[in-house]
Amino acid sequence: MSSALSPCGSRGRVFFDKTLTKYNFGDSHPLHPIRLELTMTLAETFGLVSDLSPYQAPAATLEQLATVHTPGFIESVLQVGKHPERPDLGHGLGTPDNPTFARIDQAAAAVVGATLAACQQVWRGSVTHGVSIAGGLHHAMPNAASGFCVFNDLAVGIQWLLDNGAGRVAYVDLDVHHGDGVEAIFSNDPRVLTISLHESGRTLFPGTGFNTDIGGPDALGSAVNVPLPVGTSDVEWLRAFDAVVPELLRAFQPEVLVSQHGCDSHRSDPLAHLALTVDGQRASYQMVHDLAHELCAGRWVATGGGGYSLVDVVPRAWTHLIALVHGQVLAPETEIPGDWSAYVIARTGVAGPQYMTDGPLDLWMPWSGTFNPESAVDRSIAATRHAVFPHHGLLP
Ligand SMILES: [Zn+2]
Ligand SMILES: [Zn+2]
Repeated sequence: MSSALSPCGSRGRVFFDKTLTKYNFGDSHPLHPIRLELTMTLAETFGLVSDLSPYQAPAATLEQLATVHTPGFIESVLQVGKHPERPDLGHGLGTPDNPTFARIDQAAAAVVGATLAACQQVWRGSVTHGVSIAGGLHHAMPNAASGFCVFNDLAVGIQWLLDNGAGRVAYVDLDVHHGDGVEAIFSNDPRVLTISLHESGRTLFPGTGFNTDIGGPDALGSAVNVPLPVGTSDVEWLRAFDAVVPELLRAFQPEVLVSQHGCDSHRSDPLAHLALTVDGQRASYQMVHDLAHELCAGRWVATGGGGYSLVDVVPRAWTHLIALVHGQVLAPETEIPGDWSAYVIARTGVAGPQYMTDGPLDLWMPWSGTFNPESAVDRSIAATRHAVFPHHGLLP
């Protein structure tokens, strides 16, 4: 365990170890752990982890899992881990999305442990920024696995923060899918603000997260959803982020920021239909990072999430994220070293990307009151602001 003092004045740490690659639904499943292996080796190639041995966290205990999951579901995961041949469809285990495998209970608890350790160390101040690339399993529900997610590492981490003195936690979910599990778990808790930007539920799993879904009766405005149309580009997506996230966070005044950085919003992702580049994603990491410094004394826990372009996108996107957690900025035009490219071909049989960029990022227009009624993205932004902003004393 070690960490580096970064140029932004913060200590950052990667919470990862190889046991996390045992969260593995099999070779034909989209969430293949090769994406984590390729990410860590690329980050190592750039010297981002080699001398900062990543932190190996203990798996979450049953008691820690029980802070957000029901006893019946936890027991079901334990049973399926012992007898993977006996699915439990009632708890979402053994479906095509969530196949069972031996010791699935241990693998899923290990993912929670990594994100939980990041939350603990950031909250206690031993590091300022932490990243858990295996984490971000935002679809898991209290009583069921869903959408490749068995236990909800984000929710266990956020609940730990609340139970250990945090009065206000902000959660920003930038995965292409709606962050439904995290939202459901805290939707009636005014101490947690959840914001999710995602492809609309009309065209994508899980089919939820509309503009008027704003939280439970005791916490109206604490859930925020910006559903986006098929084909949304970098400039539109960054504009949506700018129109919603900074103002709400400034009004909410979180003490700690937890963010989910699924990179399945990329134009080449095989499971979804937005049109971002690695460069648009990278710009959002910077914005989240800067908000953590502006509002939370730098306290920032970042996680991975979805991302199914395993070779071309995930390693580059999250290597940029890891760099930023260490307070370093990896220039987009950086060339990818031949060592890593050779490793990728040997490991996967396909050629990897050559640069850390997809090309120059187009200029995007900040929101600041300009509204184009012809734009479906602008209409969604306006609908979300109209539904949520008054609950925070803000003009829509
Ligand atoms: Zn920083
Ligand atoms: Zn996703």
